[in-house]
Amino acid sequence: MTIAFDHSYARDLPGTFLRVAPDPAPAPKLLFLNGPLAADLGLTLTEAEAESWFSGATLPAGADPIAQAYAGHQFGGFSPQLGDGRAHLLGEVVAPDGRRVDIQLKGSGKTPFSRGGDGKAAVGPMLREVLISEFMAAAGVPTTRALAVVATGEQVWRETKLPGAVLARIAASHIRVGTFQFFAARGDQANVRAMADYAIARHYPDLLYAENPYLAFLDAVIATQARLIAGWMGLGFIHGVMNTDNMAISGETIDYGPCAFMEAYAPGTVFSSIDHQGRYAYANQPLILGWNLARLAETLIPVLDPNHEKSIEIANDRLADIAPRYRAEWLAVMRRKLGLVGEDAGDAALSDDLMTAMEGADWTLTFRRLADEPALRPLFPDFAKMEAWLPRWRTRAGEGIAQRIAEANPAVIPRNHRVEEALTAATTGDMAPFNALLAAIQSPFAEAEPYMLPAPTGFGDYVTFCGT
Ligand code: AMP
Ligand code: MG
Repeated sequence: MTIAFDHSYARDLPGTFLRVAPDPAPAPKLLFLNGPLAADLGLTLTEAEAESWFSGATLPAGADPIAQAYAGHQFGGFSPQLGDGRAHLLGEVVAPDGRRVDIQLKGSGKTPFSRGGDGKAAVGPMLREVLISEFMAAAGVPTTRALAVVATGEQVWRETKLPGAVLARIAASHIRVGTFQFFAARGDQANVRAMADYAIARHYPDLLYAENPYLAFLDAVIATQARLIAGWMGLGFIHGVMNTDNMAISGETIDYGPCAFMEAYAPGTVFSSIDHQGRYAYANQPLILGWNLARLAETLIPVLDPNHEKSIEIANDRLADIAPRYRAEWLAVMRRKLGLVGEDAGDAALSDDLMTAMEGADWTLTFRRLADEPALRPLFPDFAKMEAWLPRWRTRAGEGIAQRIAEANPAVIPRNHRVEEALTAATTGDMAPFNALLAAIQSPFAEAEPYMLPAPTGFGDYVTFCGT
């Protein structure tokens, strides 16, 4: 087939990227192709086309690969130049439903933004992104998607030699908070404004007619990001690197690196090997949301209002809204998870008290088994607080609760020991455990016993790694 590429980013935003071609993979082998996603996008690819195009072996007609510039706060420290160090944006396609999406290769070779890196990725981490993002999509949380993973036939050096791979990623766009920071940090207000105009037209076209489109844009990003983080919290998801370069303006989850799902509920849970301070711990994510959005607001100060002081005042006013807005989104998530119909003044206390009562119990299974006390009880190291909480909830929840609980709470999540098992096998060439796990997490509301159990004791404290 021919992909009908468009290149609005490159056309509208000259000076924000560099043209650079992917490395050709020497011996590509298709490991994963997302058929349903390809169909949604109107792409009728053959496996041979996917294998060649999404490994960088050949460029599809009409592709015009670029590496995008961006900056970012990493663990609180500002890096004025990051950018696509191992990614190439092939171009955009407009799906039959009218959505415009990016097709980007990740792990496809060095660019002028690579700094010390090799520009490559290994099979394990790219397949990991497939598992976690497919689960997010199936669970209804906005996310970038994996279209394909192709092994390159090359070895990459990490702690050891590993098989290399390229991921083809679909995103509403790859514009990040850090994209705005790149230009703001250089005092390049023209490009901050151009980026905002482009992001508004692409993601929030209704705002073109707002009284102050830039202020409306800031508000819209606050709203979409607050909803996203509330969605993560509901699933027990820990992103692991909520740096400003990993926060997409579209409100999609992006950059699945050292992320993982919490098993036993503990607010301070951290998986990333490099997050020593717990900056991106589970319960800190809503605070980091506010911190990251404050960095976005700073970049927009010059365009919010001609008067600098007034601009700061307007921005601060909006930032003060983040915490209550997040809280409202979280409460909406909790109402759904608890099967509560309508709104009641006591819902916030009911949700907060559950958080206290369920500490130490498996996050996913507690919600899934809420209406089944005999199955719920053994999940708890100490059931005393739940004993007091359950009657309050039952009174509020009312009839038909078992069905609402089953519809709102996944039975299967990508459990860490299962993900590791699948990726270890895939790295040695056995895709069977990956395919079986993928099938289970793509239908997360269906009970699939072997994938529902928490890690066996002995799996230990799970650790994830960056620089993948
Ligand atoms: P990440 O931690 O994956 O969000 O990446 C942060 C920055 O490091 C981005 O600018 C990436 O493009 C860059 N980067 C990560 N891994 C590599 C690599 N293997 N080679 C080159 N650049 C990389
Ligand atoms: Mg990143």
